[in-house]
Amino acid sequence: MTKAELLQRVENIIEAGRKAAKTNQGRSQIDSITICTEGYAEPGYDDPKSGVICFANWNDVTRYDGHEFHVIDEAPGRVAALVEKLGVELDWSDEWCQCDGCHKAVRTQANSYRWRASYADDGSGNVLCHECLKADPTEYLQSLEGSSNRCVTIDIDLEGAGYKLLSDQFENGLYGGQSDRPELIADALCEQGISRFIFRLDSTGQFDLSFSVYVHEEEYHLIDREEFEAAPMAGVDPAIQMQKALADASTKMAATEGGIKVAKCDLDSGTARVRVVSPEEFVAGTALDF
Ligand SMILES: [Zn+2]
Repeated sequence: MTKAELLQRVENIIEAGRKAAKTNQGRSQIDSITICTEGYAEPGYDDPKSGVICFANWNDVTRYDGHEFHVIDEAPGRVAALVEKLGVELDWSDEWCQCDGCHKAVRTQANSYRWRASYADDGSGNVLCHECLKADPTEYLQSLEGSSNRCVTIDIDLEGAGYKLLSDQFENGLYGGQSDRPELIADALCEQGISRFIFRLDSTGQFDLSFSVYVHEEEYHLIDREEFEAAPMAGVDPAIQMQKALADASTKMAATEGGIKVAKCDLDSGTARVRVVSPEEFVAGTALDF
């Protein structure tokens, strides 16, 4: 079967699924299927032999009757099974999108603690994959200069692009003493008249991450290293904030009546919010949406 024939079959299945859908929700899920024919731009993913990837919400539509969920429209699941039989790779539309440059598939949600985004979003919804960014990185890197809340997350040769490593000793996390704050590091650099700095996310783990800061070679000579190293770069310890928030969660849980209780910890304030969720919310995975 040629790729064109395969795509025609996929279209036919989608159209049949659309007609068979019993609910607006099911029809809308099928209408929202994205067909990607350019392969993956995500490290660790091999392109399917068929060359075709589809993203959607493949879940059957269910209704909760107060005790359990019942399937009321199985059209999305049937479409999934049929296109998968043709060799199409299935992914979830809330985890993947397409690169606006090359139209390859880009993962936008973590699938492990070590995952780092291999794409960049320009803030107005345009996504570029790591391959497109590396092909012409200047604009991307300039857009990150001077920012303490955005950073490089792709493997790119920053030295080759004109940036010099200033320090790669920064950590933030919950193991105690990992309290380096990019905004304080940025302040210390601005204090020295440096604005062309870029943060780079070096590693991520379950409870912590490490990062480094680079300065463009045009401004590197401005650095007074002694003064930089003496500047305050650590904030409150996240580990201590977590202890406070967990203690707060415990107190509030004990004072809350009800069945399923969930807590959300806020490390900035060292406090927790607690609420009671319904079995429906718990099963639907929306218990922490508050
Ligand atoms: Zn791309």
